[in-house]
Amino acid sequence: MSQRPGTGEVPLRVCTIGSGPSAFYAAESLLKTPGLEVRVDMFERLPTPFGLVRGGVAPDHQKIKSVSKVYDKIAEDPRFRFFGNVRIGRDLAIADLERNYHAIVWAIGCESDNRLGIPGEDLAGVHSATEFVGWYNGHPDHRDRSFDLARAQRVVVVGNGNVAMDVSRILLQPAERLATTDIADHALSILRQSTVREVVLLGRRGPAQAAFSPKEIEEIAELPDVDVAVSADDMQLDPHSAAWLETQSRSVQRTVKFLQECAARGPQDRPKRLCCRFLTAPIAFEGNSGRLQRVRVQHAELAPDADGTPRAKPIDRFTTIEADLVLKAVGYRGIELPGLAFDSKRGIVANRDGRALQTAGGSDVRTGHYVVGWAKRGPTGLVGTNSPDSKATIELLLEDLRDGKTMQPAPQCGTEATLRNKGIDFVSWSDWLQLDAHERSEGEARGKARHKEPSTEALMRAVRALRG
Ligand code: NAP
Repeated sequence: MSQRPGTGEVPLRVCTIGSGPSAFYAAESLLKTPGLEVRVDMFERLPTPFGLVRGGVAPDHQKIKSVSKVYDKIAEDPRFRFFGNVRIGRDLAIADLERNYHAIVWAIGCESDNRLGIPGEDLAGVHSATEFVGWYNGHPDHRDRSFDLARAQRVVVVGNGNVAMDVSRILLQPAERLATTDIADHALSILRQSTVREVVLLGRRGPAQAAFSPKEIEEIAELPDVDVAVSADDMQLDPHSAAWLETQSRSVQRTVKFLQECAARGPQDRPKRLCCRFLTAPIAFEGNSGRLQRVRVQHAELAPDADGTPRAKPIDRFTTIEADLVLKAVGYRGIELPGLAFDSKRGIVANRDGRALQTAGGSDVRTGHYVVGWAKRGPTGLVGTNSPDSKATIELLLEDLRDGKTMQPAPQCGTEATLRNKGIDFVSWSDWLQLDAHERSEGEARGKARHKEPSTEALMRAVRALRG
């Protein structure tokens, strides 16, 4: 009988696919398991690690980005290896991984976004916030996007989450405040030419159901020259919402209180404003010659669903908002990976509490395959939410290990040799450390926290040059 993995003779070999927070917390959890002999390999399709910490967190939130120092510490462990610039499904097949690892932890996030499914969604000038966020963060997938900010006065942002807050704040603050961050050069130069004066934020439900954190809306109100405008009408809570609010967290109550104060204060004479509108949702984007001109909006009222949650019920009232640009911030969505069962309703890898399933809608788990982060639970929570979440999945992995339920890979890990034989130029952790230092020193020369090369090709050129 073959020996159970996890011992000195047969170390447990696990790989993560993806290198964002959930992948690092999964790696940490494995590496910190007492008495477990383990090796962790992390695969990342980009040459650079850290997922949304690098490509999602807004550049003016450098403090949140500094969590990557925690990941650096995890990666220092000699039992950890990084393989950047390796795409599963192109450079390595899932079968290659199954031949080399006892377990695979899918940490592939949600890289796409929800569509509204309304007319005009493909007009020029209508974008997803995901594209805008990737563009200003220098994500190679989004470097070629163009946002015509030099002629835009009013931007409509659809959605009431923290992503909507991020993109509104980036649009409304003076570009010079971003100049010292790690913002992509191409985005900074367009933001410097921006003529945007107003962001209209559309929430399909009421202020008590806004998903953004109070801190985020307060931060916008603290920007120089920006007014947060809310109408007193919009702040009228219906009796059900008022009762419901009483049952909500202090954070939700703080948001409502803040918005009530803004409404009571009335509009301020400032050059820029964030105009929060509630109980409104777009029903069509209209334009001329293929370019957006206005947003048709339908109003709504709230009605409790079966479990008492207030839901938007459209009413027979419509408004048109002239707009130069639309950013849809209505949630992220996973991308289906061939060979991995996908829950298309939720837009995530089909899983039960982090154990991947053999088929979507089925109940049989796929031995040796696990899911963490947004790919597991959907696009919710902050960076830190991933720590207990990944830990919980790794506990299941260890439980399965004790029950002898792992994959049966070859005696030695052959991943590195396979990649070399295929001529795949992977980025090791020491390559990344050199690139990281280079990005910082290039940034310093420009008065920025970091300079990011905008494309995978340029990043790989830098990696090769730094290897000497
Ligand atoms: P989110 O918090 O789920 O917000 C999505 C928003 O879109 C909600 O207001 C939702 O309204 C609305 N929406 C969904 N479908 C819609 C539709 N068809 N029409 C109109 N509105 C629609 O998602 P997110 O903003 O993408 O953020 C994702 C996660 O990342 C969140 O957990 C967030 O807190 C986190 N995050 C945090 C930060 C930060 O801490 N600074 C920054 C960015 C993101 P309903 O509520 O009515 O569904």
